[in-house]
Amino acid sequence: MTKSVLIGHALTGDVERAGRSRDVASGLIPRNRLKWVPPSVRLAHEYCFFLHDTCVHMLAEYEKARAHLVRFKFRDADEADRFEKLSSAVGSIEALKQLGRLEEAKRVAINTITIGMVSDCLHHIYEALRCMERRKVVVAFNLFRKPLLDNLVYLAWMLGDEDGFYEAFANQSPAGLAPKIVGNHRQAILQAALEKTVLKNALKSDWLHSVLFKDSYERGLYKILQRAVHLITVDREAVRTEPMNFNFIFKNHTEDDSYEGLYEVLPTVLLFLSHVILGLYDRMKNMDPGARSAFEVRTILGMYTLGDDPAQVNEVKRILDPLATLLACPQCGTKLALTKHNLARLLMRESFRCTGCRVVTSFPLSYLFNS
Ligand SMILES: [Zn+2]
Repeated sequence: MTKSVLIGHALTGDVERAGRSRDVASGLIPRNRLKWVPPSVRLAHEYCFFLHDTCVHMLAEYEKARAHLVRFKFRDADEADRFEKLSSAVGSIEALKQLGRLEEAKRVAINTITIGMVSDCLHHIYEALRCMERRKVVVAFNLFRKPLLDNLVYLAWMLGDEDGFYEAFANQSPAGLAPKIVGNHRQAILQAALEKTVLKNALKSDWLHSVLFKDSYERGLYKILQRAVHLITVDREAVRTEPMNFNFIFKNHTEDDSYEGLYEVLPTVLLFLSHVILGLYDRMKNMDPGARSAFEVRTILGMYTLGDDPAQVNEVKRILDPLATLLACPQCGTKLALTKHNLARLLMRESFRCTGCRVVTSFPLSYLFNS
């Protein structure tokens, strides 16, 4: 199995909307944590966690390597002195600007925003997903609102149009970055970012925009995220609270419809978010090509395993099939069977479970991508 075969096959096919994989889980999350999550969305929930964990891992690696720091040489001792004095008075970004180091000032700003905003985004998503495990659905929706409706847009803007974003940040903020202003350009922002990712043939910006921002889009998130934040919503017709009601207060939390609605679209939205984060990190410091390919392939094929579309599942099977001839259980010798569980487990957990004796064996799939 070569890297190019994997990549070539991972980039086609529609990834909008996750399917249902009833009673399948990947082994990523302990079963006791999944007991309140409806079986039909467990794999989708695990996939969302997998994307989160992969991004956290990336963030930690970059922070450890101090990859966000901008390195440059001062022209002379005088410039170094002036920087020292200025930066303690006005901060390092403004000091660099005043010294005419505009490109360095931009890099410092963009890298600092990226690290802080990604970290903030992932903290919210983690807590939101944990709330979904405990049936605290409204709290989860509250927590999803900021990363999905705010952070994602600014991150996408930085990826798709770094100069435009920096211009607005440096010269027009805060007013020029206000949601009211940005709101008019959201779809263009999402489209420009999408074009910088390998998802551009599998996903459409108008779908993303509808899911996140169109209150009239029946299967979207905007309405539920807005309603989760406010008890009464009156301004927009499509989000308006019904008479004799408070948003979500009369909701029966034993019903599964909130889970089904959320996990139909959340995996795709987080897939997009994770590729935006990848793009921003890669720009900060070029990522190892093998690590980048492993990320792209595992996240996209992982998405395919959520579906009930036999074509996509068969595609994953076909791509991972060479492993079935190579790998066997070290305990009893049974060959690796590419069950739906093992497809998801290989991609998200980098292990497989023996269909004979059920022993789980690690298999570092990402290493296959090392050049
Ligand atoms: Zn075995």
